[in-house]
Amino acid sequence: MTRIAQPPVAEAEAKPAAERVNHWINGARVAGTSGRSGPVYNPATGELARQVDLASNEEVDAAVAVAKKAFPKWRATSIGKRTEIMFRIRNLVDTHRADIAAILTREHGKVPSDALGEVAAGLENLEFATGIPHLLKGGFSEQVSKGIDVYQIRQPLGVVAGITPFNFPALVSMWMFGNAIACGNAFILKPSEKDPSTSVYLAELLKEAGLPDGVFNVVHGDKVAVDRILEHPDIAAISFVGSTPIARHVYETGTAHGKRVQALGGAKNHMVVLPDADVGMAADAAVSAAYGSAGERCVAISVVVAVGDVADPLVSAIEERLPGIHVGPGSDPESEMGPLITREHRDKVASYLDSGPAQGAELVVDGRQHVLYRESDGFFLGVSLLDRVTPEMECYRNEIFGPVLEVIRVPTYADAMKVIDDNPYANGTAIFTRDGGAARQFQFDVKVGMVGINVPIPVPVAYYSFGGWKSSLFGDLHMYGPEGIQFFTHAKVVTSRWPDPSTSKVDLRFHGTSSHGV
Ligand code: NAD
Repeated sequence: MTRIAQPPVAEAEAKPAAERVNHWINGARVAGTSGRSGPVYNPATGELARQVDLASNEEVDAAVAVAKKAFPKWRATSIGKRTEIMFRIRNLVDTHRADIAAILTREHGKVPSDALGEVAAGLENLEFATGIPHLLKGGFSEQVSKGIDVYQIRQPLGVVAGITPFNFPALVSMWMFGNAIACGNAFILKPSEKDPSTSVYLAELLKEAGLPDGVFNVVHGDKVAVDRILEHPDIAAISFVGSTPIARHVYETGTAHGKRVQALGGAKNHMVVLPDADVGMAADAAVSAAYGSAGERCVAISVVVAVGDVADPLVSAIEERLPGIHVGPGSDPESEMGPLITREHRDKVASYLDSGPAQGAELVVDGRQHVLYRESDGFFLGVSLLDRVTPEMECYRNEIFGPVLEVIRVPTYADAMKVIDDNPYANGTAIFTRDGGAARQFQFDVKVGMVGINVPIPVPVAYYSFGGWKSSLFGDLHMYGPEGIQFFTHAKVVTSRWPDPSTSKVDLRFHGTSSHGV
């Protein structure tokens, strides 16, 4: 049994900068051989904490070969045994919640309460995957014609890959690998190179749970590794989560190479606040959903669309709440919002605080005034509020992915709907109102994949599926839940009869279903 490393934050911080994050192939850490590596920072201090191996084509090929070899035996392993292993994986992740959260805090920067929330959400996906005996049940129709039965079975695809973003290093991988391996596939994970350590820690837990070597592999890398995955002939399907330009590239290239691809992209999530809404409640929700995890969530509220005369009181109520948000490192128990992932990203986010006002927006709160932005080496930016934003502005047209909340003021509900309709992203949205009829109409009208009614972050529970529309998702199937099972399996329909050979004869007619054997 593998010994599970216990990385409390303090110990992790003390590790030398030269520490290397290796690949995980065939049940063991494997040092990279490409000669290339990428920097991994501690975003709270700005220090270079470790280097991650970046795979070459040959290293990707080696991992795929291992997975391909492991697949037939894993696929043939009974559903009962696979379920037992899924339960053990679930229990080990549960036991090691705090350790996983500590790695998230040190590499991503999110504060411990948020990191623990990420692990808890991932656990729900693993719990869903423990239901695999029920989820893989097919349909059976007896006697569709005389002596003929028809049934459907679901079979794994083979070697499948998951490519994940930096913002949920544990959760997004758990969206994918739980269902994928429970269905009987062998899995290659290519995590974000910005915070890669969680994936290797999870790999150790999977091994300890009894998952056979080779069924779960981690290949670290950048565009080189991703592009090799996209064209590798032995990879059957790719599940991707990241920004829209890369999601589009992954979808187009992967499908051009004959693969099944689901590619979830970026977001610009609007929260519509109607004039009858409870202003305090709407302000609490907007602030929580905009600044949690420093706005680095694809489900963050990035735009409040204030309808009619609610705008003035709502902007005031949001502004009032902002000084109360404690920005700081995860090591400070008071911190509610941590740093951004890299200095480059932080500076890009801050640049919208210049471009927005230059194009006519009103900078109500400027996160660059925060002491940690000015004096810390960490990648901090305080919370920012931009009012009177319009759809033409650069700050609105781009996904900012940081702690910047924008307010668009519109006169009517119809104007609010037009703003949302005209936006290329359609991941999540929310409406705040006390009018059930208006909320029902919004749910009916809005062309967005996930909708909240007085709920600002409408992430579906693990037994529904997650995903947006338009430029927020390329492909047909949403992530995890029932659609995740569909994504990671082929359906096969069997038509069967056991006739008496003495009744057999040559018959050249085409038989529709109902005339079989009649
Ligand atoms: P990203 O697109 O930069 O990276 C995602 C993955 O793609 C990483 O594994 C990365 O190594 C790889 N990659 C990056 N550049 C590449 C290239 N040129 N060619 C091939 N592969 C490449 O995204 P990110 O910055 O890590 O994550 C933030 C983005 O992810 C945001 O846009 C956010 O909205 C989105 N996101 C979406 C969802 C969703 O469910 N829709 C969830 C989380 C994050």
